[in-house]
Amino acid sequence: MTPAARRDALRELLRAAELDALLVTDLVNVRYLSGFTGSNAALLVPAAGERGTRLATDGRYTTQAAAEAPDVRRVIERACDRVLVVAAGNDGIRRLGFESGHLTVDAHAALLEVAAEKGKGVELCRAPGLVQQLRAVKDAREIEALRAACAAADAALADVIEAGGLRPGRTERDVAADLEQRMRSHGADGPSFDTIVAAGANSAIPHHQPTDAVLATGDLVKMDFGALLGGYHSDMTRTVVLGRPTDWQRELYALVAAAQAAGRAALAVGVEVVAVDAAARAVITDGGRGPEFSHGLGHGVGLEIHEAPALSATGAGTLASGMAVTVEPGVYLAGRGGVRIEDTLVVRPDGAELLTLTGKELLAL
Ligand code: ZN
Ligand code: ZN
Repeated sequence: MTPAARRDALRELLRAAELDALLVTDLVNVRYLSGFTGSNAALLVPAAGERGTRLATDGRYTTQAAAEAPDVRRVIERACDRVLVVAAGNDGIRRLGFESGHLTVDAHAALLEVAAEKGKGVELCRAPGLVQQLRAVKDAREIEALRAACAAADAALADVIEAGGLRPGRTERDVAADLEQRMRSHGADGPSFDTIVAAGANSAIPHHQPTDAVLATGDLVKMDFGALLGGYHSDMTRTVVLGRPTDWQRELYALVAAAQAAGRAALAVGVEVVAVDAAARAVITDGGRGPEFSHGLGHGVGLEIHEAPALSATGAGTLASGMAVTVEPGVYLAGRGGVRIEDTLVVRPDGAELLTLTGKELLAL
C-alpha cells in the first residue's frame, strides 16, 4: 500500500468522524501516511481529497522530505503543527481533528492560540487513534518487513545457543549484548527494545533489565528481545534452563506452553481480543497460577513495538486479517523463577501464521 492509498483510507475514517481534516503530529503516523522519517514534522490530511494535503518539516529536512515524500506538497517551517493549522484555516477547513492521544497539553494550548488568532474559524477536535486503527492491519510489504525482523531475532538466538553463549559463568548483560550484536550481524538496524535477559530468581521479574548477575546451573533464563529492521519491530521471548530441569520447572514450563498454544489457537478473524486473552488465561487459571500471570496476553507490533490491538482483558475490538500481534503468557513465582513464551504472529483468514520460528520445547542447556 502506498502512502497515498493509506491517506485515502484515512479519509474514509475522517468522513465517518465528521472531520474536515486531520492534523497528524505523531511522527510514526506521519511516516506511515507520507513516507517521511525525519524527527520534526506534521501532516495535514483533508477529508475532501488529496488537494490540500501538506507535509511540514524544518530546513534540515528539505532534501530528505522531497526524496521520501515526493507526492505531497511540502512546507518548510520549524513550527510544523502551527503552520498547518493556519493552512487549514486558509483552505476553509472547520472541524480539524488532532491526535489527542499524542499532543502535549502545552502543544495543544499553542494550537488553540494559533487557531484563535489566524485559524479563520478552525475548530480543534479530539481525534485519538485514527491512524493507529489503520496501522493495526498490515499490508503484504509490512508483513514481509516483520518477517525479516523476526528472522533476524531467530537467527541471533540460534547463533548464541550454537556458540554455547548460554552457560554458567556469563552475566545477563553478556547474553543481552551477544543477542543484540548477532541480530545486527543478521541485518537488524538494532534491537527493537532493550533486550531482557533474566536468570534464576530474576526470571520471575516480567521486565527485568539485565544486570551483572551470573548465570548458574539450575537457572531458568528468560530472554525477551527483538530486531528492528526497515522500521519494523519483532518481539519474541524464550525461556531455557541451564542443566537438568527440576519438576517444578518442567511443570511451570508445560503450563505456560499450553496457555501460549491456546492463545495462538484462539487467533482468528472476527474474534474479540478479550476472548484471545481469556483462552490463554483460562489454562493458567485452571493450573492454579492465575494470580501469577500478571500482564496482558499480547499486543500489536509494527512500526512501534507496542501498538494496536491490545490482547488483554481490557482490550477492545475484534481481530482482522493482516493484524500482527504477539502471544506472550507468563507465570512468575517470586524468588524462584518465571517462564514466558512469546511469538509474533499474523492473523490470516484461516488462523494465524507464526513469524518467530524458534522452537518452543523446553531447552535444557
Ligand atoms: Zn517481548
Ligand atoms: Zn511483547
